[in-house]
Amino acid sequence: MNSSPTKLEALAINGGRSVREKLLPYGRQKLDEEDIQVAVDVLRSDWLTTGPKVAEFEEAFAAWVGARFAVSFSSGTAALHGAAFAAGLKPGDETITTPLTFCATANCVLYQGATPVFADVCDDTLNLDPREVGRKVSARTKAIIAVDYAGHPAALDELREIAASVGATLIEDACHSLGAEYRGKRVGGIADMTVFSFHPVKHLTTGEGGMVTTNDVRWAEILRRFRNHGISSGARERQESGEWFYEMSLLGFNYRLTDIGCALGISQLKKLEANLTRRREIAAQYSRELRGLPVRVPAVRDEVLPAWHLYPIRLDLGALSVGRREIFRALRAENIGVNVHYIPVHLHPYYRERFAGMSGEGSYLVAEKAYEQLISLPMFHSMTGVDVEDAIEAVHKVIGNYARESERPSAAGSRRSG
Ligand SMILES: *Cc1c(COP(=O)(O)O)cnc(C)c1O
Repeated sequence: MNSSPTKLEALAINGGRSVREKLLPYGRQKLDEEDIQVAVDVLRSDWLTTGPKVAEFEEAFAAWVGARFAVSFSSGTAALHGAAFAAGLKPGDETITTPLTFCATANCVLYQGATPVFADVCDDTLNLDPREVGRKVSARTKAIIAVDYAGHPAALDELREIAASVGATLIEDACHSLGAEYRGKRVGGIADMTVFSFHPVKHLTTGEGGMVTTNDVRWAEILRRFRNHGISSGARERQESGEWFYEMSLLGFNYRLTDIGCALGISQLKKLEANLTRRREIAAQYSRELRGLPVRVPAVRDEVLPAWHLYPIRLDLGALSVGRREIFRALRAENIGVNVHYIPVHLHPYYRERFAGMSGEGSYLVAEKAYEQLISLPMFHSMTGVDVEDAIEAVHKVIGNYARESERPSAAGSRRSG
């Protein structure tokens, strides 16, 4: 590759050669032989679900994040529903949350018949802005649900203080931030309840799965019942005690995580430290090697150590001759599996129709502006050195081609030839 800085390489979208032959996904799981073996062992055992692996996984997970209790669920969404239920959300109650998240964060409020109230995000972290939350709280505020966007913990101390001032519960949607630290402490034991997801693109997978952690025994007890129809004991305890009697004391669901999933979770948890180390390396390499381009790399505040579920960059659209859509398509054509996180929740048709006027376009300007600029680059712990180099090369190639003349980085198109 000896292209000179002025003669740019043809983009794959225009018929040039793509940086990669096969698509590099934006996220994916990594299962080793041990993970597979423990799942197979459960398949040969007496308990496929609600057996010994459930409590074992919950105890190991609680200890790892530094919480007193962990209650497993069949998905992160079910876990969010459990937290919304345990917080006592009901019709007439309001819950303040961020528009820049996966819709499940706000949907769990609606499952309870309560009302989500969005507050805008901070421009640096894209997490809930405590000043905006402060403007939205009232006597009706029953909970605040913060999201640790991309794996960077939200301003938990400030949010907890606001929640306490009106007697609301602070729920942390930590589906992006398993292993992240806030003021030297891992997320999971900081907010009143913390919610995790074990979907395959997340840090640890059980296929589908989720968890709520808390230090409060009463919430742990409600969460355990809620995920099992509201019933006071499990099938296994009844078999062991030889009793048939059980009572349903609240209206719950079947949100149980299987023993197969929990065995996988126990095995995956052992590799979480190494996984986080790799994600932090990749993030550091991206931030270093994208410097000088008209893009904004993720900010990291002093008091946090992010977990890097995502690596979202923001395009400086004023310095580019095309919009995000074209940049996105060009990167996909180079076989880099970029993504966009997220379409702001209030802009989805369901929310637009339901909350017309209250949360239309133009209401959350920081989140909406960020949405126009965001592109998530591939980020997962099994990415190889070549994978990371390819993603960086493709960003340089595409941005170099679309940068306005005055902004064109001099090294574009010749990165690897030095
Ligand atoms: C993944 C995710 C969820 C939902 O988790 P599932 O396990 O897919 O149900 C909720 N909130 C956020 C922020 C997520 O990233």
